[in-house]
Amino acid sequence: MKRHNFNAGPSILPRTVIEDTAKAILNLNDSGLSLMEISHRSKDFQSVIDEATALFKELLDIPEGYSVLFLGGGASLEFCMVPYNFLEKKAAYLNTGTWAKKAMKEAKAFGEVIEVASSAESNYNFIPKNYTVPADADYFHITTNNTIFGTELRSDLDVTVPMVADMSSDIFSRPVDVSKYICIYGGAQKNLAPAGVTFVIVKNDALGKVSRHIPTMLNYQTHVDGGSMFNTPPVVPIYSAMLTLRWLKAQGGVKEMERRAKEKSDMLYSEIDRNKLFVGTAAEEDRSRMNICFVMAPEYKELEADFLKFAIEKGMVGIKGHRSVGGFRASCYNALPKESVQALIDCMKEFEKAH
Ligand SMILES: *Cc1c(COP(=O)(O)O)cnc(C)c1O
Repeated sequence: MKRHNFNAGPSILPRTVIEDTAKAILNLNDSGLSLMEISHRSKDFQSVIDEATALFKELLDIPEGYSVLFLGGGASLEFCMVPYNFLEKKAAYLNTGTWAKKAMKEAKAFGEVIEVASSAESNYNFIPKNYTVPADADYFHITTNNTIFGTELRSDLDVTVPMVADMSSDIFSRPVDVSKYICIYGGAQKNLAPAGVTFVIVKNDALGKVSRHIPTMLNYQTHVDGGSMFNTPPVVPIYSAMLTLRWLKAQGGVKEMERRAKEKSDMLYSEIDRNKLFVGTAAEEDRSRMNICFVMAPEYKELEADFLKFAIEKGMVGIKGHRSVGGFRASCYNALPKESVQALIDCMKEFEKAH
């Protein structure tokens, strides 16, 4: 049976990326050696990280003066590295979900943290709009896509304070005006690569402005200077990231990914809105194109377990909602084909007919 992979993370990757990573693990560039058993400082690997960096900059149209880093530690380590490197006195945070809250918690150890707005009281089902970012904040931190709650900032905000963004789950799904940010980071396992590598885009001249001592490994400057090779980087996930970036370019880049994301998410949201059994959980204007959250309509609540079972039997994978929202979550990342979305829609229609 064909399986349709809606996992939230780690999640679907283009099939060619998986196959070509497997080949390189067995035999890299016909060298007779595995990608896993060569020096990260060898020519073979240097060309991988160089190409991944160049494609990253090209595809996101990153201006001069920014570095792209491939680090370990996940997005969660960035929650601490960001304030370590950028928070001198005060930072502003937009509280849009679990990840935003975790980022904010880490920052509190380094200085004053202003929560400019929060949607916690409505279980993060929308993105707050009317708030003021203090002009003297060192940065304004946002989470562009709230993976758990299915809300998304689908375009760049207009604020005067330099922004920092966690783009773990929507990177490369739309064009980004990188010049508005001093730092963009994310775990790669949602839209880019297998788990184990974290991408960081950092504005070089925003570094070195805090007065505290920063431990070597947590200092972005270390990794800018070392070209992500201060210590041994996660070579296998970086290789896969390079392959995904090649794939992205061949497919038409971020504009094409945005077009597909709109198409796929419009298809699924229309079905959720049409089908009497289901309701979406996120406010319409903030609906995520990457993580589509929905529950049974109140009068059909008792069918939840049945639908899940039915969908699994039809080949749907990973559609159980996160425990903090319940119901269902269909993650529709870049590599997910439109056919999988259609298969889920067919499944919803069929289930509706039976009830
Ligand atoms: C998954 C996720 C994280 C956590 O990433 P790790 O790499 O596991 O630390 C952080 N932020 C967002 C938005 C996520 O989706």
